[in-house]
Amino acid sequence: MSISDNLAEIHRRIRTAAGSAGRNPDGIRLVAVSKTRPAADISEACAAGQLLFGENYVQEFAAKTVEVQDPVEWHFIGHLQSNKVKYIAGKVALIHSVDRLALAEEIDRQWGRLGSVCNILVQVNISGEASKSGTTAAGALHLIRACAQLPNVRVLGLMTMPPFFDDPEAARPCFAELRCLSQAIAAEQIAGVEMRELSMGMSGDFEAAIQEGATLVRVGTAIFGAR
Ligand SMILES: *Cc1c(COP(=O)(O)O)cnc(C)c1O
Repeated sequence: MSISDNLAEIHRRIRTAAGSAGRNPDGIRLVAVSKTRPAADISEACAAGQLLFGENYVQEFAAKTVEVQDPVEWHFIGHLQSNKVKYIAGKVALIHSVDRLALAEEIDRQWGRLGSVCNILVQVNISGEASKSGTTAAGALHLIRACAQLPNVRVLGLMTMPPFFDDPEAARPCFAELRCLSQAIAAEQIAGVEMRELSMGMSGDFEAAIQEGATLVRVGTAIFGAR
């Protein structure tokens, strides 16, 4: 199967999952996770109409922004060290993986230097698994209140990565919990905070995530093949 065939199949599955949950598929965006894949794969996906890509590693991302000539929208989805933020400043439309205030403050500082605002999601470790990054569910509200004070950062929602990659039903409670948390935070009506994005679901479980309310699904392997 080509990248183009895979994309068509993922879009078909997104529409089916949205339909099964009574959702409009237009409310779900596919983030093609292109980490470790060459720029040629990204161009191939672009030719098939995919213009939104997620990258995990700062150095690799920086190299690809030079190589890829297509008009793509980049999202940063991986663990981010504060001292690397300067290399992605102004180059990504959304950072999915903000899990601590020091990181948000550095993002605020770097985007502030450019005179612009960075859209972010707060990553929540719903399962509490030690190996995953993310704030606790309780910490998320705290962090979002603090981010709301930063003039060059805008919180648009939440992201999570459950520990169960291959069992969508095992991951489903994590997705449902992230949605509930998002609704609880929205009810706080924090000025400048819009809880409109839920980034959840990967190759093995994006349909369950959509049924639980995902607005951004991050799919790598099912588009580009095994890494
Ligand atoms: C790699 C990665 C994905 C994509 O995973 P696949 O199983 O290849 O679809 C999604 N989100 C994050 C944060 C990742 O690091």
